[in-house]
Amino acid sequence: MASILNNRKYWERKSLIEKRQNRLSAYYIQVYNNNIIDKYIEDYFNDETIARPTQAMLYGDLYVLNKPQVYEMYNRIINSKYTSDSALQEMFVKNKAEARLNTIVEAELERINKNLDYTERVLATHELNLKEYQKIAKRENKTANRKNIMERSVNDLDFIRSQFGVNIPSNVFSYRDLDTTAEALNRQTQMNATWEEYDAINQEARSQGLPDVYTEKEWIWTNEGQTTRHSSNDGQTVDFYDYFQCIHDVTGDVEPLMYPSDPNGSFENTWICYCQFRAF
Ligand SMILES: [Zn+2]
Repeated sequence: MASILNNRKYWERKSLIEKRQNRLSAYYIQVYNNNIIDKYIEDYFNDETIARPTQAMLYGDLYVLNKPQVYEMYNRIINSKYTSDSALQEMFVKNKAEARLNTIVEAELERINKNLDYTERVLATHELNLKEYQKIAKRENKTANRKNIMERSVNDLDFIRSQFGVNIPSNVFSYRDLDTTAEALNRQTQMNATWEEYDAINQEARSQGLPDVYTEKEWIWTNEGQTTRHSSNDGQTVDFYDYFQCIHDVTGDVEPLMYPSDPNGSFENTWICYCQFRAF
């Protein structure tokens, strides 16, 4: 067992599989986002009454889209033979899954709303070539980059801003695809659930008067996803309940993280990170 867990190839492979799973899940979120934008633009040109989808509807759909993946991760804890199968424990874990699901949905909802705001402004202040839009959206299927299409109609973002008489940073108005957000959030959830699983096993041992099963943890840099910023952390080992001192190779900054992709960490260190960790 120990030899497998120390094997570099094992972690590279594990990371690659997780990356594929995240991409697939992110793809569905992206398609959902695209359909909403397409419908909005279509209604606009058909002179239909433009009704933005209600927040409740968006929330409900995103909840359904994200739920299977999130629950699958936390179900590992519920079904683990190392943790108690009491109703209380199950409720506790489900609450954690629910809280995580909420965070994910809120973040995606915010991005979709910003994309809708941006689309609304483009349509109101510029001439969008609908034929071109429809052609590209159709040809490139469901993941066509709507940002490029729209930005072709918006040559000067400052113009939009000046129209509204406010100086807001351009990223507030910009259109952004959702797949990167979805992938990063999934990745955070995976690492979070892994940490919770180790912790649950420790708690279980304590409840039986036994010592912790996991007392240390090791940072593993997998070299996956072209994210080289954490390579110098490879092999860093700390007590299980201590923080890793995560070094950002490019900036040299050091940040305490409970585990790779720790949702409480900074954007620079926790967004699209394919590092792993193992406890022992
Ligand atoms: Zn990393």
